Amino acid sequence: MPDPSGKPGRDCPLCPRLAAFRDDWRGRESSWFNAPVDSFGSRDARLLIVGLAPGLRGANRTGRPFTGDYAGDLLYETLIRYGFARGNYDARPNDGLELVDTRITNAVRCVPPENKPTPAEIKTCRSFLTDTIMEMRKLAVIVTLGRISHDSTLSALGQRRAAFPFGHGASFDIGGVRLIASYHCSRYNTNTGVLTPEMFRKVFADARRHLDARH
Ligand code: URA
Repeated sequence: MPDPSGKPGRDCPLCPRLAAFRDDWRGRESSWFNAPVDSFGSRDARLLIVGLAPGLRGANRTGRPFTGDYAGDLLYETLIRYGFARGNYDARPNDGLELVDTRITNAVRCVPPENKPTPAEIKTCRSFLTDTIMEMRKLAVIVTLGRISHDSTLSALGQRRAAFPFGHGASFDIGGVRLIASYHCSRYNTNTGVLTPEMFRKVFADARRHLDARH
């Protein structure tokens, strides 16, 4: 159930398939987080990064977005490089890493089987994404990781997808917020060369420039 803060509760039942998957993993790995993963970072941040969904052995195990899986290695390294995070990323929620003016969330809060949420699950979970965006009063830049997160973010902003087509590095101004699209920093995309670390850095360099120019 949503709690009064607009976050999914630990036993959120809204997506039966995801709830069953979560319960199954609670039985198999009782020390894992195995619950909807909350956003990481302050609601006062100016940058919001929207991922897809927790990885099974990453955020679903550790409870912090992108923490403990391959995608997090490139993401956190890049955030530190551009001053969006400080400290050391050590793939655990108590590694002391701090986000700076940045918040990270996911389009879908529960781990989906095979990393693939269904269209219905993406739509159902969108109310939490919308709440996350709406409570960020200083929001200036959104970086979306992957097409699903891009499209769901556009819907959360009440925009038509066809008006803001996904493409790596594409950027749009929507009601005073700069939306920058990126390929997802997944192991698959980086291993196949779809996304190189340089391509990923350019996205965050662009976000940095945009934020610094507004200052
Ligand atoms: N971990 C997350 O939290 N989100 C992703 O999109 C991928 C890995």
